[in-house]
Amino acid sequence: MRGMMMDRPLRVADILTYSEEMHAAAEVVSSTVEGGIHRESYAEMAVRSRKLAKALQAMGLGTGDRVATLAWNGFRHMELYFGIPGVGAVCHTLNPRLSPEQLTYIVGHAGDRVLFLDLTFVPLAEKLQPQFPDDLRYVILTDAANMPETSLPNAHCYEDMLAAQDDDLEWPDFEESTAAGLCYTSGTTGVPKGALYTHRALVLHALLVGVSMRNSLSMGKRLMPVVPLFHANAWGTAHAAPLTGTSLIMPGPRLDGPSIWELMESEKVFAAWGVPTVWLGLMEEIRKRGRKPSELGELVIGGSAAATSLIQGFEDLGVSVCHAWGMTEMSPIGTLGILSPEQMSLPAEERLRLKSTQGRRAFMVDLKIVDERGDRQPHDGSSTGELFVRGPTVVSGYFSNQEASESAIDDEGWFGTGDVASISREGFLNITDRSKDLIKSGGEWISSLDVENLAMAHPHIANCAVIAVPHPKWEERPVLIAVPAVDEPDPDDIRTHLEGQLAKWQMPDDIVFVDDLPLTATGKVSKLALRKTYADYKLPA
Ligand code: ADP
Repeated sequence: MRGMMMDRPLRVADILTYSEEMHAAAEVVSSTVEGGIHRESYAEMAVRSRKLAKALQAMGLGTGDRVATLAWNGFRHMELYFGIPGVGAVCHTLNPRLSPEQLTYIVGHAGDRVLFLDLTFVPLAEKLQPQFPDDLRYVILTDAANMPETSLPNAHCYEDMLAAQDDDLEWPDFEESTAAGLCYTSGTTGVPKGALYTHRALVLHALLVGVSMRNSLSMGKRLMPVVPLFHANAWGTAHAAPLTGTSLIMPGPRLDGPSIWELMESEKVFAAWGVPTVWLGLMEEIRKRGRKPSELGELVIGGSAAATSLIQGFEDLGVSVCHAWGMTEMSPIGTLGILSPEQMSLPAEERLRLKSTQGRRAFMVDLKIVDERGDRQPHDGSSTGELFVRGPTVVSGYFSNQEASESAIDDEGWFGTGDVASISREGFLNITDRSKDLIKSGGEWISSLDVENLAMAHPHIANCAVIAVPHPKWEERPVLIAVPAVDEPDPDDIRTHLEGQLAKWQMPDDIVFVDDLPLTATGKVSKLALRKTYADYKLPA
């Protein structure tokens, strides 16, 4: 028997309308590209998003049209997040850190019709314009006073575009399965692939994040997403913050430790979300200044594994850390390191161990691990296998890529993450590696994440990565590539530190000190780049 409830579609724009009514005074504070701080309430954001929607309609854009953005975290990008899907079009966020080849591929593959871009990216777009589709239109996210001289054909000014419209608009209705957002993976393996989010998935994801992360997200809270809007919905903050009445403090283009510290301090930021590299930078600044930003109380760390030493460093300062795991293909949140009251009362060491895992599943996200044959492995904390996920916020395939879509989903309809993991009886996920980063030495797997985690606890190491280099006898051996935290790091001392905690065959064969580690387009340490650099590395005899 079918139930009898109204079949109203879930729409992204309804989040905006709700925040306009319920959280009118909560605000988006942006450190702008032009310089200075800009403030806008959710009520103002709703009005401006409707003007934007009318401008898009005036350009002839509507259901199914892809509209690209190339922008930092800021108020105008937030307006695009609602205005574009609001009219039924698809908000396609481009990652400016991708290579020129990847960007031109993605814009062409997506079939973008308009590109909205920050001033910062005008030179980049000018360079790529000859390879972009001829009919692509350009809108620069600034006001008339700051409009640059540009070779981009018929570039429009965003503020002029909005000024020409009123906000008299009813958000149009369409099915909740209509595409609302598009984000390509960074393509570290093969060509980039597009995750095509539906309105339904984004609204459910906003609820999932809002329900799980009440410490970061609730009325009166001030949250800084350092994770960019151009990648994986800024982990859902763009939708969950207006929904819950949380103010957003947007760092714009300034993501270094000192800038983040200052904005956190002046804007009384309570929670901040981002990748480990950003928090390593903030920690350095905290050490220099001798204190944390006054109001900082919660940090969400994800995107790549957070070292236990980093988690402990912040917890010691009274900042509660939540280690999270997810993927672009999952909208992106999958698991969250939130402990139950019973787990919070465990001894500090045990608490830290649980917080160092990737946490437990969010509502609506199902997890399974399988061996090479596809057989399910028990959730006993020690069996490992490839991690598969399922749920209404997980992709069912990739945009316009049948081959990749077919290989992404298994026979039971689950999505293969490419991560290798174990799951404990209590549901804690422990990622040991991306399958392509695993090290196989003499037939035994070595978890690079485990070795990195231990190495990061040594005071001479500021950041590090463990990669495999070829070995004539053992096939592969691990090498530790480290950025030192001191002028004269002592490799023997680091070895002794590791020896106590690793089996002999898990020990890195060498330690190489470098000034920096290469980063991917999403700010993670790029093991692909490191493996290339050290492909012919000669291990010490
Ligand atoms: P990209 O690969 O383009 O950087 P994603 O954000 O989609 O984009 O990357 C998802 C992958 O990042 C996951 O499959 C996993 O390998 C890794 N990852 C994300 N969060 C964590 C975490 N907390 N610990 C370990 N790995 C993580």
